[in-house]
Amino acid sequence: IPIQLIEFCEDLVESIQITTENHEIHFTHSGDFTDVKMDEKLLRHILGNLLGNAVKYSPLGGNVYFDIQSLENNIIFKVRDNGLGIPKSEQENVFNSFNRASNVGTISGTGLGLAIVSKSIDLHCGKIGFESQEGEGTTFTVEIPVN
Ligand code: ATP
Ligand code: MG
Repeated sequence: IPIQLIEFCEDLVESIQITTENHEIHFTHSGDFTDVKMDEKLLRHILGNLLGNAVKYSPLGGNVYFDIQSLENNIIFKVRDNGLGIPKSEQENVFNSFNRASNVGTISGTGLGLAIVSKSIDLHCGKIGFESQEGEGTTFTVEIPVN
C-alpha cells in the first residue's frame, strides 16, 4: 500500500504524543520520500514499539528523537532516547522473547515487543540494531528496503 511516509510519521507521532504528555517526541526527516511504498501495518507495528519503549524507559520530561532518512533503496528509521539504557552484558538478549533487562525496576512489560518486531523486520528483508549506554540512553535503527 503506497503511503506518504512523512505525513504518515507525523500523524503517528501526533497520535502517540496525545497520550504521552510527559515526554516530547521530536520528528525529523531527510532525503526524498516521493514514490516510497511501504507496508503501513508493518510500520505502525515497528514504530509503535520503538517509540513506546523510548517513552516508557525514559524519565518524565524526557525527549525522544525520531528521524527518518531516505538513502538509495532503503529507509532508515532512528529512535533515540535519553533514558535508562540497557546494560552492556544484557544487550545480546534484547531481541529474545520474554527478555527484560535487570534495570527496568517497576516499569511493566511482557518482553515480547522487540522479539516480534525483529521477526517481522526479518520477514521484510530489513535490519534492526541498536546502541545503548546504561544511564545515558538508547538509539534503535531500522533499515527497510522500499517498494
Ligand atoms: P512489551 O512486550 O510490552 O513491549 P517490553 O517493553 O519489556 O514489553 P521489549 O519491547 O521487547 O519488551 O523490550 C525488551 C527489553 O529491552 C525491555 O524490557 C527493556 O529492558 C529493554 N529496552 C527496550 N527498549 C529500551 C529502551 N528504549 N531503553 C531502555 N531499555 C529498553
Ligand atoms: Mg516494549
